[in-house]
Amino acid sequence: MRAIAYYKKGDIHFASDLPTPTISTPDEILIDVAWCGICGSDLHEYLDGPIFMPQDGSTHPLSNQPLPQPMGHEFCGFVKAIGNKVTKVAVGDKVVVEAGCGCKDVHRWPQSHVYGKEQCTACRKGFDNCCTHAGFTGLGVVGGAFAEQVVVGERHVVKLPEEVPTDVGALVEPLSVAWHAVKVAGFEKGSGKNALVLGAGPIGLATILALKAHGASKIVVSELAAIRRELALKMGVEVFDPSKHGDEKQGIKKLREIPEDHDGFDFAFDCSGVETTFNTALHSLTFRGTAVNVAIWGPHPIDYYPMDITLQEKKLTGSIGYVVQDFEEVVDALHKGDISIEECKHLITGRQKLENGWEKGFMELMNHKETNIKILMTPNNHHELQ
Ligand SMILES: [Zn+2]
Ligand SMILES: [Zn+2]
Repeated sequence: MRAIAYYKKGDIHFASDLPTPTISTPDEILIDVAWCGICGSDLHEYLDGPIFMPQDGSTHPLSNQPLPQPMGHEFCGFVKAIGNKVTKVAVGDKVVVEAGCGCKDVHRWPQSHVYGKEQCTACRKGFDNCCTHAGFTGLGVVGGAFAEQVVVGERHVVKLPEEVPTDVGALVEPLSVAWHAVKVAGFEKGSGKNALVLGAGPIGLATILALKAHGASKIVVSELAAIRRELALKMGVEVFDPSKHGDEKQGIKKLREIPEDHDGFDFAFDCSGVETTFNTALHSLTFRGTAVNVAIWGPHPIDYYPMDITLQEKKLTGSIGYVVQDFEEVVDALHKGDISIEECKHLITGRQKLENGWEKGFMELMNHKETNIKILMTPNNHHELQ
């Protein structure tokens, strides 16, 4: 089968000779991939990895599966075959897939070192994304969707309504990252609270859409890149260019003045993950406000003074990935129009055939980061099926 696969550190490429995956347990589903988006994590695997991928010559600790493996974890497709215990979907259904893997998936891999072992506490309590062994389809646990076909477990699959096109389906994954963050923050739907978003990359823009669906009264996005600010404007939110407001301290002062009380935001989402955005998130909050780190940081600690949260009873939390429920709620929000399908389409800045995906997808994103948000690949040239 044709796929873009991770072979070893610094070696990701297109090939036509990857094995086609097959159903091996009764709860598995074989999917014909329609569209799969390139994620920042995919680029990180190439530039700084292996991060989620196994080290060269080793296997993944959860599945014990070796490399090479097709990458790709943000996808939508059509069910091609189902195991004999699958009831959630039928052949031909249009689906999206929650890509997290943990204890509840180990039964699919008899060769796994944790096969047959008791689930970890997080999984037992339903916090699957916090699993001790957590990993992702398409990021080393098992082959992903930069491929003609992919096999996934039934519990991860969510049916996509008729009116949601498959390219927007491929955005449900990044939307679920944002949705999860908004929920972890404790942003109650209809509470009318306001929010600051730091960074208007894929996750920042997805966070805007999730906040709008939760009825935020005001959303302000701080972003250095003009092209990204323009995209945010198209989504009807206020934009802030920190380069126009002096140093970090002055920028924070300006931001705090924007909400009605001129005394900071109820929520701040750091979707950039640098010291300045972390500080801005924390210091732009009003009393009892909540800052959420959504970004994935490299292994470099920063200074942090606990009294900065204590004196105004602020909250600081983090959000990682998603659970299946987030996918279900995002799909429902798309169905109800709480998330606009048209606004989602602003996130798609490129479409490529799988064969060109390395050059015109990965390389394009690495060389022209600011002019791109999401580049989608279509392994089976499914444009006509949208
Ligand atoms: Zn992703
Ligand atoms: Zn677990």
